[in-house]
Amino acid sequence: MKKFIILLLVLCVTICFASCKNNENNYTDNNINTASGIDNNTYDTDTTVHIHSYSDATCTQPPTCSCGVTIGEALGHEISEATCLTPGMCTRCNTKFSEPLGHNWKEATCESPKICLRCDLTEGIASGHNYSSNHICTVCGQQDALYAPVKLSSLESYMTSQEYHGSFKTCDSKTDIWGTEHRDIIYVSGGFSSTTSNGMETYRLNQKYERITGKVFLSDYYKNTQYTGSVVIYGDGKVIYEIRNIGAGFETVSFDIDISNVKDLSIYINDPDFYGAAQGRCLSEVTLYPQQ
Ligand SMILES: [Zn+2]
Ligand SMILES: [Zn+2]
Ligand SMILES: [Zn+2]
Ligand SMILES: [Zn+2]
Repeated sequence: MKKFIILLLVLCVTICFASCKNNENNYTDNNINTASGIDNNTYDTDTTVHIHSYSDATCTQPPTCSCGVTIGEALGHEISEATCLTPGMCTRCNTKFSEPLGHNWKEATCESPKICLRCDLTEGIASGHNYSSNHICTVCGQQDALYAPVKLSSLESYMTSQEYHGSFKTCDSKTDIWGTEHRDIIYVSGGFSSTTSNGMETYRLNQKYERITGKVFLSDYYKNTQYTGSVVIYGDGKVIYEIRNIGAGFETVSFDIDISNVKDLSIYINDPDFYGAAQGRCLSEVTLYPQQ
């Protein structure tokens, strides 16, 4: 029995010794000797020095030793803002600070589905237009695109006449010889050759449109030109509009032509000045109106 008690004592001492030496993560305390050279509080009776072993810092707790001594500061929470679906919370420790916001819905319109103004999530589909007999939406007032006027400058010509050497170009604006600015311009352009002062483009309309409107003008750079040019519009090969003698002093003209039976619309621009198309005889705002 006595032997057993001695054995028990030896075991206790061994365990105690082992735990005081225990230094799991090798995190040693640099401050151990700062005050007196020896940290009396942690000086073991058996003269073994207690080396602090600190846990990692958390959001709310600084690094702490099992003896209660702390070092440094707690990390503080890393708070992420609440979103429509997720609460405001600490991304490190998951502590919740606020509830999810919920979606901020804007109802569906003719052209866009119900959408959250905060996160752009959509639900369902657009409600679609509700066109009346005059092709205007009774909900939003928009015209049915199928029946909306179309700019000729936005259409692809399906044929550039090989008989002439110029081709059509477009630009946003040019000024006529009277100082008036025109928008949405079509003119003819080509290389440096006397044969490039003409161009003819053909557009396949397939009788989809009932009218074509626009303007013909001479651009300001050619106010003193000694040449005259012309613009001719053909419907399926027949002249349906022509304007000749576009030269110095030319007054800008507007046209409005019935093209309801026209399958192929051709526009010819003759624009003579030196060395090829002068870009002087121009069309502006040429607009096609669909059959209603
Ligand atoms: Zn300690
Ligand atoms: Zn936290
Ligand atoms: Zn949302
Ligand atoms: Zn609508």
